[in-house]
Order: sequence, then C-alpha cells, then structure tokens
Amino acid sequence: MRVPLLDLGEQLAPLREEILAEITRVMDSSMYILGPDVVKFEKNVAAYCQTQRGIGVSSGTDALLCALMGLGIGPGDKVLTSSYSFFATMGSILRLGATPVFADIDPQSFNISPAKMREILKQGDKDIKAIIPVHLYGQCAAMDEIMALAAEYDLAVVEDAAQAIGACFPVAEEGGVRWQRAGSFGVAGCFSFFPSKNLGGMGDGGMITVQDEAFAQELDVIRVHGGKPKYCHGVLGGNFRLDAMQAAILDVKLRYLPEWHRGRRQNALTYEALFAETGVLEKGLVQLPPALYRPYADEPVAGADYHIYNQYVIRARERDALRDYLLAHDVGVEIYYPVPLHRQECLVKMGWQGPALPETDKAAAETLALPIFPELSKEMLEFVVAQIAGFYRDRGML
Ligand SMILES: *Cc1c(COP(=O)(O)O)cnc(C)c1O
Repeated sequence: MRVPLLDLGEQLAPLREEILAEITRVMDSSMYILGPDVVKFEKNVAAYCQTQRGIGVSSGTDALLCALMGLGIGPGDKVLTSSYSFFATMGSILRLGATPVFADIDPQSFNISPAKMREILKQGDKDIKAIIPVHLYGQCAAMDEIMALAAEYDLAVVEDAAQAIGACFPVAEEGGVRWQRAGSFGVAGCFSFFPSKNLGGMGDGGMITVQDEAFAQELDVIRVHGGKPKYCHGVLGGNFRLDAMQAAILDVKLRYLPEWHRGRRQNALTYEALFAETGVLEKGLVQLPPALYRPYADEPVAGADYHIYNQYVIRARERDALRDYLLAHDVGVEIYYPVPLHRQECLVKMGWQGPALPETDKAAAETLALPIFPELSKEMLEFVVAQIAGFYRDRGML
C-alpha cells in the first residue's frame, strides 16, 4: 500500500465537470481579473467566516502584507508573533521594514502562548504595534486571551488564518458557548488558497476578512496599487489582485468545504482509536495533537468546527529516523517546520536578536505531519499507524 501525504486528484474527480463548466464560463466572459466572480466569492467567504467583508487577494502572503500595509506598519515598528509558523508570517513583517518579536508557543497547541505574550508586553515596548497570531495546523490560537491582551495594550490583531479557514474558537457567553470562526476576531483575517490548504485553488490565491467597512475600503485600494480613482495614487499599494478563474473554481469548492473538514476530523478520531491500540502512546513514543476545543466525546455538536486539521501533527521520539522509515515504507510525511523563523538565515543575517524560544525549538525537533486528507480510507490510516508501530518495534522500543 502507498499512502501519500496529500492526494488532490481524489478530491477533484467528483467536481471535475462542475469546475470545467466554471472555467469555460469565465474564459468566455473575458473578465479575468477581479470582477463579478471575485465579488461573489468574497461575499461567500465573508459569510462563511462570519465577517462583514472579504477582499480577494493574490495569495495568503499578500493578504498578510496588504493587511499590515493597511495598518501602516513600517520601519521602526515591531510585530509580536510566533516563530513556529510558515515563513510568510515573518516575511510580511520584514518586507515592510518592521521587526518581528517572538513569543514562545504553548506546547499543547503549538500556537502562540498568551502567558509568554504578556511577559513580553509587560516590558512596555511602545514600538510593538500589532500581533499576528497563527492558527497553526487548523486549530485556533487562544483568541479570548489574545484579544484581551490586544485591548489592554492597544494593539491591532492580524490573524494568520492561512491554515484555518472555518476553524472555530469557543467564545463563552451567557447561557453557553458561541463558535466563532478564525479570521473574525482581529482587524483582519488572512487566508491562503494555496493548493494544499483545506480550501485550495488551482494556483495561488488569498483573502482578507474584515469586520470594519472603512478598513475594508482601504484594503480594496491597496490591492490595486493604491489607485483611487484609477491612475491616481494617494497611498502606496501593490498588485495584490485575485484572478476571476481562481475565484470561480474556489467558489465551487467552498460548498464542499464543511464536508471535507468533517472527513479530516473523522480521520483524526480514527487515528486516536488506532494509536490507542498500539501502545506507542503509553510508552511516550508518540504524542497525538490534542483537540483543545473538542466539545464532545461521541456526538458532533452542530457548528463546532473545533479543528479543521489542515495538518495532523504528532510529536515522535527519534523523529528524523521515523520520517525516513515512513518515507521508505510509502507513507508520505513532512516536517512543518524544521527551522523556526527566529533561526532563519535571512533574519539572523540582519543582526536580529531575541530571547530563547525553547518550546518552539523543541516542537521543530519533534513534530511530524501524517496524512489526514478527507479521502483517506480506514485501511490507509491503519497502514500508517501499523508502520509507525513497526518502526518502534524494530528498534526494540515497543
Ligand atoms: C500557507 C501559509 C501562508 C501563505 O500563504 P500563500 O498563499 O502560500 O502565500 C501564510 N501563513 C501560513 C501559516 C501558511 O500556512
């Protein structure tokens, strides 16, 4: 058996005709950049993400860049974020001449630790203007505590929700809990439609979700070189536009997204049951990713997309040897991310310095992403778990 990390072909097969019809329609429309297809998709994403506006942009990276430009982040400013993320989180800060400040992660969630953020903010550095929490792997960062900190220190929150479209955070309110979606908490939510995300296009694409209409209008303009009216540039922007073709394809896929999220969650539950039978958990050889906000043991709760499992990331003893073994046994795995942002050469070369981030370094050394895409069969999941148990048994550890 062969189990790839991700197989987009299986997802595409049942949508093929529907998507081809959209591609033909857009092709014949001669409207290829922005236009009605982008507007329609923006409305649908905004509604899904519980926000007032969506601004379609060229990538998740450009969503972050555009949002930070809209906030006026620039040289001399600092942005508080997590070092345990994809490069774009930091790249967008650096490209504006601003400086990242990193708070260590919470080892449970892999997301930025509010306690560590508070330690940093207490030092009173007035150059810190914004926070970028990353909802890593598809589970929301602790948005209640992060929003409280942002209010206390008067900081803008730009959510890096690139891996977390649709993920919900449980907000306590009178009489129970409200499930609020990623990207609806901060001044901006930044999404990516890179093909490997839960909602992936056939090329690059992104979206900024915004609650405030005035800020949304600023981003509308920044997206088109800051031109308003056309050819008159009152502010500096860039070409951050989304293609109509991508929007039309993504709009078809958006309708299937809740079902795909469910499939991924079901696979996570199956992994939990399968791993429990092997003994690797009791022996401390493997730690499964905790679903911190899962509201139930058996019966799903409507609207509670507590985790969308863009990645299913375990911690494993002898991680590098396990990775090599799994790849040799036809199981696709990947390390997200082997080099944390604070150790990236381009940052170090700038002379950047900051305090140690032990939990970030530990995660980078221990984590391994397993296949989790919705179309995996039970037999494939069983195969993955059997290979992992086999690896530890071969080494006399199990
Ligand atoms: C994918 C990703 C991005 C960037 O998205 P692109 O569309 O590839 O530019 C940013 N942040 C995180 C956490 C991501 O996973």
